[in-house]
Amino acid sequence: MTVVAELSMTRNALIRKSAADWRVTPNLADPQAQRAAFSWDRIGAELRGQAVEAHGAAGDFNIGRLAVDRNTDGAHAGRIALRFLPPDGMPHDLSYGRLRQLTNRFANGLQQLGVGKGDRIFVLAGRIAPLYVAVLGSLKNGSVVTPLFSAFGPEPIATRAKIAKARVLVTTASLYRRKVAKIRADLPTLEHVILVDDGGGPIDGTVDYERWMADASEAPPEVSTTPDDMALLHFTSGTTGTPKGAIHVHDAARTHYATGRYALDLHPQDIFWCTADPGWVTGTSYGIIAPLLHGVTSIIDEADFDAERWYRILHEQQVSVWYTAPTAIRMLMKAGPELARKYPYPDLRLIASVGEPLNPEAVWWGKEVLGLPIHDNWWQTETGGIMIANIPVLDIKPGSMGKPLPGVDAVIVRHAEQGAVEVIDVPDVEGELALRTGWPALFRGYLDQDERYRKCFSGDLYLTGDLARRDADGYFWFVGRADDVIKSSGHLIGPFEVESALLEHPAVAEAGVIGKPDPMAGEIVKAFVSLKPCFEAGEALRLELIGHARKRLGAAVAPKDIAFLAALPRTRSGKIMRRLLKARELGLPEGDTSTLEAGA
Ligand code: AMP
Repeated sequence: MTVVAELSMTRNALIRKSAADWRVTPNLADPQAQRAAFSWDRIGAELRGQAVEAHGAAGDFNIGRLAVDRNTDGAHAGRIALRFLPPDGMPHDLSYGRLRQLTNRFANGLQQLGVGKGDRIFVLAGRIAPLYVAVLGSLKNGSVVTPLFSAFGPEPIATRAKIAKARVLVTTASLYRRKVAKIRADLPTLEHVILVDDGGGPIDGTVDYERWMADASEAPPEVSTTPDDMALLHFTSGTTGTPKGAIHVHDAARTHYATGRYALDLHPQDIFWCTADPGWVTGTSYGIIAPLLHGVTSIIDEADFDAERWYRILHEQQVSVWYTAPTAIRMLMKAGPELARKYPYPDLRLIASVGEPLNPEAVWWGKEVLGLPIHDNWWQTETGGIMIANIPVLDIKPGSMGKPLPGVDAVIVRHAEQGAVEVIDVPDVEGELALRTGWPALFRGYLDQDERYRKCFSGDLYLTGDLARRDADGYFWFVGRADDVIKSSGHLIGPFEVESALLEHPAVAEAGVIGKPDPMAGEIVKAFVSLKPCFEAGEALRLELIGHARKRLGAAVAPKDIAFLAALPRTRSGKIMRRLLKARELGLPEGDTSTLEAGA
């Protein structure tokens, strides 16, 4: 046997779990029995019961109040809800009690502006306290909130704000100057811009966050919401067309609560760190809502990734449950084991990861370097919460996403003739991953795109668009995406959005965008363009196009690489064949090219 084969065998070996592995009894200690006894109604009754007991708000079901107000009784009011770590300087904390006051003020401030139930609020900021106050305060007000990634350029911001008909934007003065000022005239529905002053003085036509908050009442806002009221709008990307606004309702709290308990194993004394930005669904569901629903303390790092800083945070903040992503883990691995071993992590008891495939090496690296394996789990914007997970008591098959959580029924399906979908009952067969509807966080629509929404379902099955297989032990394995969307550093990027921005450049005639495998980011965005007559391919134009895309889309979305082609391969019906561009780029078989336009 070769050394490589031997290595990969050990990397794929089962990681056995036993009672000696946990410091607290896992919440899902007997998965089979607890799965059989599980009911979403009971989870709802538990959340609602505690809310009624605490505040007597019988008919109300509101993520903001469940997450914050429910945890402000007695001694718990003083417990730290959110601890912010600025890039430099001392941490600052918001207790549950203080968070209650601030989010009430935010909701009442919105009322004063005439902004109410169902109105759309966008939040564009780094991971600073006002972002968290704005998200939770908007929810308390019954408004619909969208946290946007602050690395987005003006174009993705404008596209999303137009789709949502955003009435309010909460942002910082510097982001406003850099990204919003130039698009504001294009956003006729945007009535109020609330600005956190991070320097540079007041700006005409905006409301100063601090002053506005100071003027607002701290009394509980007089708004009530039902489980089916719209709460969050998360944008996600498809292969074609504009981004889709996935609608989530207040009832999603039941899933956030249950999955926080079972997949992340949150216990009352935990210090929890979710490294995702709230601009992506993980950073909202698990960076804001789930830990607060459990009354634990969340660490929020305001700075960008830095390997040593992260290890220091795990150590100094005594993080016990850490939820991160494969790209970050790969970057930590690259920084070397010596750096990791510089600090002890006596409090750390669970590491989980999501967002992209987690290689077996990474799972083992956790075990060998940090003393704990990494627990991969799977979900997506549309599912609203974790669906499949390696829970603490489960033996880990490195490379697998784990098993469906209680209340989740996952199957593998194949698409049969005439649009029918058949469940594949035999193990180890690849097909599309589908979930039986019935969990509360399932999205309730793509905003104004009913047809696109309907296409995601077949009977009572939600079709995820991911290819996977289930093995004989019931573990699920990710195979790939069924469509052309790109996953770069855990961020889902729609090729169409990137192609559209490139086409706005006067030199570009055609653009086709693919995800190119990358050892660190999973995939990077690569664009192929053909030029209009009179333009000449060359390094100067290539750099200009990259700069153009970055300015419009922001660094997180723009292509890292651009190549020129005389013409792009198209189907006879005129669609650019991204699949073929990718196969050619990677030197893979071109597959079925029967629909290829002659000569391409
Ligand atoms: P998003 O909606 O941006 O959260 O992206 C969801 C997509 O990320 C899924 O449909 C998968 O394609 C991918 N994904 C999420 N978690 C995993 C995982 N554990 N392993 C592999 N891919 C994942």
